[in-house]
Amino acid sequence: MNPTVAILAVGNELLRGSVVNTNAAFLGRELTGSGFEVISNGVCADTQEAIRFRLAEILRRADVILVTGGLGPTPDDVTREGIAAHFKVPLLFSKAQFNRLKKIYKRFGKRIPALVRREAHYPANARPLINRFGIALGFSIVTGNKTVIALPGVPAELQNMYFDVVLPLLRKQYPRRDRARKLVVKLTGIGEPDVMKKLGKDFFDDAFDFGIYPGSGEVAIRIMAQQKAVLLRLRKKIAARLTDYIYAWEEIPLAAVTAKILARRRQTLAVAESCTGGLLAAEITRHSGASRFFMGGTVAYHASVKKKLGVSEKTLASNGEVSRQVAAELASAVRSRMEANYGIGITGIAGPGGGTAKKPAGLVYIGLALPHGKTRTWKHVFWGEREQVRRRAVVKALEYLWRTIR
Ligand code: ATP
Repeated sequence: MNPTVAILAVGNELLRGSVVNTNAAFLGRELTGSGFEVISNGVCADTQEAIRFRLAEILRRADVILVTGGLGPTPDDVTREGIAAHFKVPLLFSKAQFNRLKKIYKRFGKRIPALVRREAHYPANARPLINRFGIALGFSIVTGNKTVIALPGVPAELQNMYFDVVLPLLRKQYPRRDRARKLVVKLTGIGEPDVMKKLGKDFFDDAFDFGIYPGSGEVAIRIMAQQKAVLLRLRKKIAARLTDYIYAWEEIPLAAVTAKILARRRQTLAVAESCTGGLLAAEITRHSGASRFFMGGTVAYHASVKKKLGVSEKTLASNGEVSRQVAAELASAVRSRMEANYGIGITGIAGPGGGTAKKPAGLVYIGLALPHGKTRTWKHVFWGEREQVRRRAVVKALEYLWRTIR
């Protein structure tokens, strides 16, 4: 059995939802990948009592406890005091840490504020962990076969300290770990129920940890298993049963996969968007290297702009702005204007208003102009809120592009 870890993030802002607990996700992912078993991932209030209470509870169950946040200089930062109170030890003052802090302030031409003195303290049974990436001092306590580690809450500091001092310390302390092997599959154009149906009952014959995670228009499967042979068997089954939908065997978004294919083929893309208002262009340019294949995009929201781009007045008058023909003309106009190999056009009614019986909210047409001049179009009625409709339209457009070029 791998060493067990409990993560405890301290902070009222996390409880109230004004800050997203990204430290939990980071630590959960990294520790799992390094062969630790994360058994709990909690949040507690900024009080000594809450910290003591939670610490006592999780120390009974976990080998390692990672506490994040509450190491700053202000009165609401009480992680030091809470942990020291649990172990019934006083706080010690680190002269070396204080001198280090003084130097940092001096470098910026400032005198060290009196409050910051608190950040040079640590529980008497702890070993200080120098934070090379910020001010707050971390610390570790080893008692018997348990380890308690306190780290600053600022995500960049926490992440750097994790690789710098925490992981080496844990590796030394717990050398015997079986790294679980991981299999990731990214799918598009299929929903969760159909994935499960296609996988079939016999897929679950082996012993492994299975997770399926839906996104807008995408599904991820994440599997962990101890044995390589099991993962190979699963991979074969997935490849055979879901072949049409698999766009990657790694943690990568669809836009990045299409980007790779276009760049490799030395082909280019341009987009003209109406209801998605630039979301498609944003998704494409979110990943570095987009300049290798992405010519640009136009948000052609108003009919007059669609016309200026190249959609004919006749098409607009006889079919309406939200129509198959307009999606096709947007795609081919932007393709030729931007001298790209492929052009995508999107027009629709994102909702919640603006729909009619014939053209309901959620109706979206996607056009794809191909290198030889032909254009393909698709019609969808997406369900959900405005943002879901827009997001689904973007992923669908990327899916059609991926299916065409893969
Ligand atoms: P500091 O030296 O900045 O005071 P600290 O250890 O006291 O560090 P906190 O005061 O708890 O940490 O948090 C500092 C900032 O880090 C907060 O403003 C918050 O935005 C962010 N933060 C804290 N905990 C988390 C968390 N679990 N996930 C994401 N962000 C967090």
